[in-house]
Order: sequence, then C-alpha cells, then structure tokens
Amino acid sequence: MSKRKTAIFKIQSKIKRRLAEYLELKDFIEINPVILSPMTDLLNHPTAPGEIKCYGEKYYLTQSMIFHKQTALKSLDKIFVFSPNVRIEPADRCKTGRHLFEFTQLDLEIKKAKREDIMTLCEEMITELIKNIKKDCKKELKILKRTLKTSKPPFKRITYSQAYEKYGKDFEIKISKEYKEPIWIIDMPIMHREFYDREHNDKPGYLADMDLIYPEGYGEALSGGEREYKYERIKKRMKNKGKKQSEFKSYLEIAKGGLPPSAGFGIGIERLTRYICGLKKIEETTLFPKIPGKKCI
Ligand code: AMP
Ligand code: MG
Repeated sequence: MSKRKTAIFKIQSKIKRRLAEYLELKDFIEINPVILSPMTDLLNHPTAPGEIKCYGEKYYLTQSMIFHKQTALKSLDKIFVFSPNVRIEPADRCKTGRHLFEFTQLDLEIKKAKREDIMTLCEEMITELIKNIKKDCKKELKILKRTLKTSKPPFKRITYSQAYEKYGKDFEIKISKEYKEPIWIIDMPIMHREFYDREHNDKPGYLADMDLIYPEGYGEALSGGEREYKYERIKKRMKNKGKKQSEFKSYLEIAKGGLPPSAGFGIGIERLTRYICGLKKIEETTLFPKIPGKKCI
C-alpha cells in the first residue's frame, strides 16, 4: 500500500478513536448500528433506499438511524453510533467529490437537549479532534501535505434565509469556498426538511435545526437539530410532507407510546476524513468506495 493511502487510513482510524473517546468522557453510550429495519428515514433528498425481503416482509437498508435514535432514548440518555448508511444517490453525484452510496455517519442524540446544546458540543468536539489529530498524526499530515487550521468556537452562524438571499440556490458550496473556518447554517424552512425536525418555538415556519459547513470548499459536514416527538404533531407534519402513514407504521406505533424530546446530529466520517486529510475525492477515504452510478465491490 502506498504511503499516502496508509496515512489516510491511519488518520481515519485515529479520528474514530478520538471521537468515541471524547463522547464517552461526556457520558455517551455507544450503541450498535441497525442495518436492516422495516422503518428508515426516507429523506428529503433524491435518494432511494435499498430494499430486501425478510420472511415475506419488506425491510430497508438504513438510510439514517433517526427513528432508532429517538426510540433508543426511551432507555438511554445520551447515545452515539457509527452507523453504516446505504443511500442510492443519483448517478451524477459521482462528480461531486463528496457522495458515496454507502458511507458511515457518527450519529448521536441527547434526551431533552436543545439545539444550542448540541451545537456547543459539536463545536468543542470538532475543535478538540483537529487539535488531537494535528498532534497524533503529524507525520501523516505531512505526507498528505495538509496544513490543517485549528478552528475556534463559537463558529459563525448564518440563517438559511440570509444564505439564500446572499448566495442564491448554490449557497452551500459558495459559503464553503468563501469561509476559512467551519460555519453553521440554521433555521431551515419547514418544507425543506423531513417531518421529524422540530419547528422553531419562536419562529413558526422554520425548524430548530442546523447544518455545519466545512471551509475550503469541502461542503456540508453534518445535519441535525431538535426533533419532533409529539405523536399528533408528527402525523400532521407527515401529512404536510405528503408522506404515507402506512410507510411509517412501526415508527408511529412507537411515537404513540411516547417519545422523549431530544436533539442530535449525524456527521459523515468519510467527509470528515476527506476534510482533515485535504483530499479531492471522497473515494480515497475508503478501501471499497461505493461510487454513485458505478458497479463497486
Ligand atoms: P443528512 O442527514 O442527509 O444530512 O446526512 C448526514 C451527514 O451524512 C451529511 O451531513 C454528510 O456528512 C453525510 N452524508 C450524507 N450523504 C452522504 C453521501 N452520499 N456520501 C457521503 N456522506 C454523506
Ligand atoms: Mg444534510
């Protein structure tokens, strides 16, 4: 294996270790990933879920563990999981440098947390991580010729509406290219996201959610926010989004029995590795990349 590849995988291994250590120190418990379930996030993206028949029933390959995270909080207070996701992305996304059709999210959720709590946690987690990787992986970063800038919390914030007004519809990538530090985009319009993101208490029509954008053109790092947990409100939001309740039968049954309020986010490990290593293409961050539109092993 080339020195370059070894450096990338050593850094990725360290990233995962350091993130897990950080979360465990904050009293999070790591849970196992769910690969197959009759319920998965159907997403507000042009992706399709993988489907498989088990004992005559339709199961999905996980697109995100959002519903399982909410359910897990009925038993635990703070959880994280390295969750493999399969999302059959449109084939032309092979050119973006940041899409795979199989990837891993570090997905976390906290019972009774507010958006502000998880934004603060995330800022500290990323800042600590970068500091530690610069310390642990000096040699590897040198091989990759990567000069990583240490970020400093709090990160700047811009609302979705401000971003759209200033940069137009491609705001994510334009902001990413313009900024030298990670930046938050907050308060997405309610119809732009899925039914499980919670509407802002003080700003009807907008969500208490956020995306973190990497600097230097690396694009979106993570998405998250506060979650809707009230059964009647979930049903109303599903209806407004044109989602069929029959597709979410298991989830609705759980929600009827009572879900705890929570907030959380999911950060893509391959994109994080790409950013930290300064790579042109996300393919380089995994030994068996699933490139949209291509036949991959
Ligand atoms: P989402 O909930 O769709 O925002 O996904 C959460 C995070 O997972 C994103 O912010 C990315 O870091 C990562 N992610 C989403 N889709 C992909 C993909 N196709 N390839 C690689 N990473 C992805
Ligand atoms: Mg997102």
